[in-house]
Amino acid sequence: MKLSEIGEFGLIERLKELLNSSIIGDDTAPLSVGNTTVLLTCDILVQDRHFKLSYPASAIGWKAISVNVSDVVANGGLPKYALVSLVLPDMELKYVEELYEGIKKACEFYGCEVVGGNVSGGERLIVDVFMLGQAERFVGRRSARVGETVFVSGTLGDARAGLELLLMEKRSYEDFELRLIERHLRPTARIDLARHVSKYASASMDISDGLSSDALKMAKASGVAIKLYSEKVPVSLELREFCKRHGKDPLEYALAGGEDYELLFTHVFERLNPFLSMIPVGVVIEGEGLYLDEIPVEPKGFDHFRL
Ligand SMILES: [Mg+2]
Repeated sequence: MKLSEIGEFGLIERLKELLNSSIIGDDTAPLSVGNTTVLLTCDILVQDRHFKLSYPASAIGWKAISVNVSDVVANGGLPKYALVSLVLPDMELKYVEELYEGIKKACEFYGCEVVGGNVSGGERLIVDVFMLGQAERFVGRRSARVGETVFVSGTLGDARAGLELLLMEKRSYEDFELRLIERHLRPTARIDLARHVSKYASASMDISDGLSSDALKMAKASGVAIKLYSEKVPVSLELREFCKRHGKDPLEYALAGGEDYELLFTHVFERLNPFLSMIPVGVVIEGEGLYLDEIPVEPKGFDHFRL
């Protein structure tokens, strides 16, 4: 069977079976070391798959760190240390230095540190980051409880619109377009929500494959159903403008767009903190699957082997 047949998530299930691991299945692996819980995760950026060489090198470095931090904060942790493995074609040293400027900037922003790595030659640029975080309390995706409110942070769908704009290769971009492009090139992990998630959330994950796909994963993992309310899903003014100009539906982008790196988490409604970026978008109900308003939905998220 080809990977494109089994799909990304089918493959992960297969490998999980093979390893017979009960830990695999969240954004990070929580492990007890002494008295603390450390969170391990890794995420890879591959040239021509996740980025093009024409993108600013510093943005690729920033993103490589951010996507890993996103997994750590999604599970209620704070990032500590990172290892960076690079596969490098023969290229300008300056490019690699700029890549590392982006990595360094991101680490300063998130309060973590690169402590080592590995380099190999190869055909295409690959940036693989391994990250270790620390959590007072680990919060995974398998523990959403019936009756809780479902929250998301920020706005959704911007990164996909940004990617589409980049691919248009326009000679110049308007301000709102540049802001969408920035959301794709330099996503910011929600480190501002890490403590809230660790303190109050029952279940949490980051939104990397699209809200509908990720909410369904949470529902499945928790053995519940999730109902989302379409009018509550947060959409930016920039995305609305983009959709107006291109005759698209912002809700479609918010539900199916990937790489937002916002958070999806559940807890009782009363814990809503109006000073944090958290919008109630739905509820956890009995049953299985995902509902949009009253209608069951088949999610259209991102799958690495089905492009
Ligand atoms: Mg994730």
